[in-house]
Amino acid sequence: MRGWEKNVRRPAPYVPGEQPKEKNIIKLNTNENPYPPAPGVREALRTMDPADFRKYPDPAAGLLVEAIAADRGFSPEEVFVGVGSDDVLAMAFLTFFNSSKPILFPDITYSFYDVWAELFHIPYECQPLDPDFRIRKEDYRKENGGIVFPNPNAPTGLLLPLEEVEEIIRENQDCVVIVDEAYIDFGGRSAAELIPRYENLLVVQTFSKSRSMAGMRIGYALGNRELIRCLNDVKYSFNSYTMNEAALRLGKAAVEDRAYFRDTCEKIISTREKAKRRLTELGFDFPDSMANFLFARHRTCPAETLFQALREAGIYVRYFKKPRISDYLRITVGTEEEMERLFAFLESYLSADSEREEKR
Ligand code: PMP
Repeated sequence: MRGWEKNVRRPAPYVPGEQPKEKNIIKLNTNENPYPPAPGVREALRTMDPADFRKYPDPAAGLLVEAIAADRGFSPEEVFVGVGSDDVLAMAFLTFFNSSKPILFPDITYSFYDVWAELFHIPYECQPLDPDFRIRKEDYRKENGGIVFPNPNAPTGLLLPLEEVEEIIRENQDCVVIVDEAYIDFGGRSAAELIPRYENLLVVQTFSKSRSMAGMRIGYALGNRELIRCLNDVKYSFNSYTMNEAALRLGKAAVEDRAYFRDTCEKIISTREKAKRRLTELGFDFPDSMANFLFARHRTCPAETLFQALREAGIYVRYFKKPRISDYLRITVGTEEEMERLFAFLESYLSADSEREEKR
């Protein structure tokens, strides 16, 4: 080993879903929104001039912070923005998880949490979901250095009722509880309404899913002023200009179109509920997702086989070869047409598969 190698930090990185280059792929593998961003985003893009990029952007990201604050009914001092919620979450881990006691999160959850914990040398302890993949609130009643969980959880899609989220926050007022609400707009009730009552609550959301702007990289946190001040101090100790000028303007335009946002979420919810019925008919079972994806297992056909067959047919879904979840596929809710093509493929593949099975 060369001398310098012993000093190198070598995290085991998070593995993002594939972004295939080919056209005509039905892409149901990274929980993107199949619909375009609000029309106002196109308009805001049209009025941008490259000369606008000469100067540094506002380090406080005022334009976007104010738009989010107005939309959510908070004051700008209660809003923090970042380069996707990954950036916001990473910054929150670095800021709030600074104890020698372990932070707690579910064993089956967003697979970035343990990556950040390792990277920042934060001790952690995973709490097993119950056999039906539910978070057991009682598991979060032990000594800890902080708590983080997605609601709805990923990749299961299961929503923890707000009363149970509140119980976890209430019982852990000596540490920060981060509720990662990447998927909350598809049917859940946000914990943001609890912020006035709990100083230790940080709610994180993203523009990547419900606002169709994964490519623009915008995420945000809501919390009391003191928490947001702490986050900003860490941000300014790291990189003052996390949000670029385009993201600030386009993000503002996206937030301001509430009607489009509501319509898009409703379309996805309705497609998801139809997909639940169709997948059940096709022999799948799944937790009752409140997100923009379904986590489904087939009665007979192994998930890995299906994953490959779908891929060869140009339909990309996500498969995690991990303990407890290797029988499942995570399928993002696409447009009605995309889902119809998925069901048509599954129907013919699975019936051919059961014929093969009978001949064996
Ligand atoms: N939290 C959860 C639970 C997620 O699934 C994702 C998407 N990969 C994120 C956060 C991060 O999303 P983004 O950085 O695009 O806001």
